[in-house]
This record gives sequence, C-alpha cells and structure tokens, in this order.
Amino acid sequence: MANKKATSPTKFGLEHRNFRDDEFWKQIPGWASVSRDEFADHKWQLKNSITKVEQVEKILGKRVSKDFMADIVQGQHYTPMNIRITPYVFSLINWDDPANDPLRKQFLPIGSQYLHDHPYYKSDSLAEDEDSPVPLLTHRYRDKVLFLPTTICPVYCNYCTRSRIIGGSTETIQKSTYGANQKKWDDVFEYLMGRPEVEDVVISGGDAYMLTPDQIRYIGKNLLEIPHIRRIRYATKGIAIFPQKILTDDAWFNALKEVHFLGRSFGKQVVIHTHFSSPQEITKWSQRAMDRLFQENFVVRNQAVLQEGVNNDVNIMVKLTKQLEWINIQPYYVYLHDMVPGCEHFRTTLKEAEELEKAVRGTTAGFNTPTFVCDLPGGGGKRHVASYEYYDEEMGVSVWKAPNVKPGDVFFYCDPLHKLSEKAQKRWSDENEWEKIINEVKEKAGI
Ligand SMILES: *Cc1c(COP(=O)(O)O)cnc(C)c1O
Ligand code: SF4
Repeated sequence: MANKKATSPTKFGLEHRNFRDDEFWKQIPGWASVSRDEFADHKWQLKNSITKVEQVEKILGKRVSKDFMADIVQGQHYTPMNIRITPYVFSLINWDDPANDPLRKQFLPIGSQYLHDHPYYKSDSLAEDEDSPVPLLTHRYRDKVLFLPTTICPVYCNYCTRSRIIGGSTETIQKSTYGANQKKWDDVFEYLMGRPEVEDVVISGGDAYMLTPDQIRYIGKNLLEIPHIRRIRYATKGIAIFPQKILTDDAWFNALKEVHFLGRSFGKQVVIHTHFSSPQEITKWSQRAMDRLFQENFVVRNQAVLQEGVNNDVNIMVKLTKQLEWINIQPYYVYLHDMVPGCEHFRTTLKEAEELEKAVRGTTAGFNTPTFVCDLPGGGGKRHVASYEYYDEEMGVSVWKAPNVKPGDVFFYCDPLHKLSEKAQKRWSDENEWEKIINEVKEKAGI
C-alpha cells in the first residue's frame, strides 16, 4: 500500500468520525473488573502502568502465547528504551494479533523485530548535543530553541529519537537520566535572556506530562517574562497515550491553564504539541481530553513519526489526519524516522515518505495537512521530504543542504538497507564500500 501511486485519488469515507468508547480494557484478564471510573482516574493509570516484562505476563495471563511472551523477553536484550506503558495504551493493543499491532510495535519491543543498524546510524543523529550552548538546550535555528527540562515520559516509545538520554539505562545503552533541576533551568533562562534573536521555545524532553504543576508554572512564567520570547510550546505525548490526566488531574491542568492565561495577557502564544502516530491511539477519551483543552482555547498541533507497519500506508495516514482534525488537533509534521540505534525495522525510505505526502495532500484543508519532513542527520534541521538536492534511490542515499541552518554544509540521509535491492544491499554489506558509495552519490549530485 505504501507504494500506491499518488496519481490515483485516495479513497476515504466518514469512519474517521467514529471513536471507540467501549470498555476495551476489560479484554485484559488483569483488568477485567476495573470500572470506568477507576480507569478514568489518572492516579489509577499511573499506578498501574506497565514497567516490567513480568507485569506484562502477569496482567495478560493466557491471553498471549508462550512463544510471544518469550519474544517480548528477548526484546529486552536489544531495546534502547525502557518499558513504560499506561493501561490505556496497553489495552488498546489488539492482543489477538500483537505481532502486527501498531501500538505493540511502538511501545513493547520483541526480539524478532530487530535488524542491524545502518552503518551511518548515530545515537545523537540530529547532533543536538553539538548545537547545545548550555546544558538542556539546543540552539540550532536562529530564532527558535529546543529546551529539554526532563528526560522522563509517561510512556516510552521504542522509536524515540532521543533514546540516548530518555528514560533509564537498558542492556544496550547506559544513560544518565536527569530529573527536574531548577539550577540548570535557570542557566537556560539566563542564556535566553542574552539572545534577543530567540522568539520561540519548544519545551520538550522527555515529556511535559511528567513536570509537576509548580514546574509547569515555573518554566512557563520564566520564559514568558523574557521580553523577546513570543511563543512557547509544551510538547507532550500525553494526550495520545494518557488522556485521563487532562480529564482528571485538575492541579496539572490548571497550571497549564494559568501559563496559557499569562501568555495571553502578555499577547504571547502558549500552545501544546502532541504526538499521535496511529489512528488506533485515538478514542472517545482523546476527544473528551481535546474538548476540555479546546474549551480553554488551547491550540494543539501533532507531530507523527513515520513508521513501518504503523502508519506507512496511505489509508492509515489519511485517517490519522482526518481524525486529528476532527478533534481539533492540527496535523503539523510527519517525520521521516531518524537514523538512531535499534530502529532499523521502523524506518521507511525517503521515496515512501514522498509518495505518502503526495497522496495525503488534497484530502483536507491545507492548514490541516501535515508537512512531511526529514530532520537531517548531522544537524541541518527539518527539511521538506521533496526538497533534497539529489536522491540515489538505488543505493538509498539522499543529499541535502540547509542554507539557513548550516550554510555550505552537505547532509546525507540513508534509507534502511533491508528495503534496497539485493545488489545494493550486497554493496552496503562490505565495510570498504561505505565511503565509496557516499562519494559516488556526491559526485552524481555534483557536490
Ligand atoms: C524541531 C526543532 C525546533 C522547532 O522547529 P519547528 O520546525 O518550528 O517546529 C527547534 N529547535 C530544534 C533543535 C528542533 O529540532
Ligand atoms: S514521548 Fe517523546 S521523548 Fe518520550 S519516549 Fe516518546 S518520543 Fe521519546
């Protein structure tokens, strides 16, 4: 499907308006008697989040086969990310076919899915640490910055681009996870005060969901009081994987509301960026959470990550887009998967991303049509997927420039090897060929 020709019209009906509201968690043996009220409680969701393989086994009982359970155990030897899954997301997984389920794929790794990393993968593929003038901050673009106040999240995504720092250590990666550190935050604010060109701050991480109400206020107030900062965005995957918090954690919600209100009183924008990648993550709970945010005038935008077997399909991508806009979330970006470790099975080719972009465009309002981007390895920033200088589809290498970010520099993105022709894969399998391949592409590109 992913290669469906973008020249034929994309078919879609009105299914995107239907959101499930059944008691889907009752399909999980361990939660069969959990009431709707309990399930709605954010404290219950947190307390019952799955953080260990043993819990998976305990809660599912005989719901999954022994073989599949063994595959989950194997997954822990390869994954760069800890397990952390809210009951909400865990019970949205189709446990009749977990191997192919898009939510299982995103949050619960299995050993059999892993492939060798691409020769040019990097744990900090986007060079965020290189462009960091002060800890917790990446200042790459002139007028906007990325601030990482925390490294914890309510759910850990296996495709996380910041697996080098997010969550705790795993068998394959040692990390020095940091929690809230006011002194370091103050250093960031001080840096920003001295940089009048910065107007826009992305507060990411990690996930703003894990900040306490006081921390939400502290960060928001300090940033908004810097005169030249006009826009701040709290980034959280929360709405997608834990909407109950928006609905029942009033202390947290009110803190966000206060910052929003303060921003408006200053004539500044305070918005939320969230992170749905699959229509299966969207239910009536998401809609209720969005209704609450919408009533308070919050603008919410979405950033999805393109993933094999999750959303690299025209119909799924169109449905995701239409569902998001139906509940008042603006589909903002779809990211081509970054070249980070343990993610080869998730990555798609640049060609697929281009085809999907062509197929989605025209299915709805332009302002609700996501821009498909490649965040350039090496720190060139985000570029539209069709804006490469040259693309060798055979070897799976594209060449890019980023004149406003690093003028004069040349960047490369590489497609996952398992999607290339046998001949190309054979060449890539020889270490001595790697540099030659890149040089050949450079030459063809005239660079
Ligand atoms: C993505 C990103 C931003 C924000 O970019 P937008 O395209 O405005 O969403 C800012 N800084 C860094 C380092 C980023 O990666
Ligand atoms: S929510 Fe974001 S930062 Fe956290 S694990 Fe997922 S992708 Fe990584």
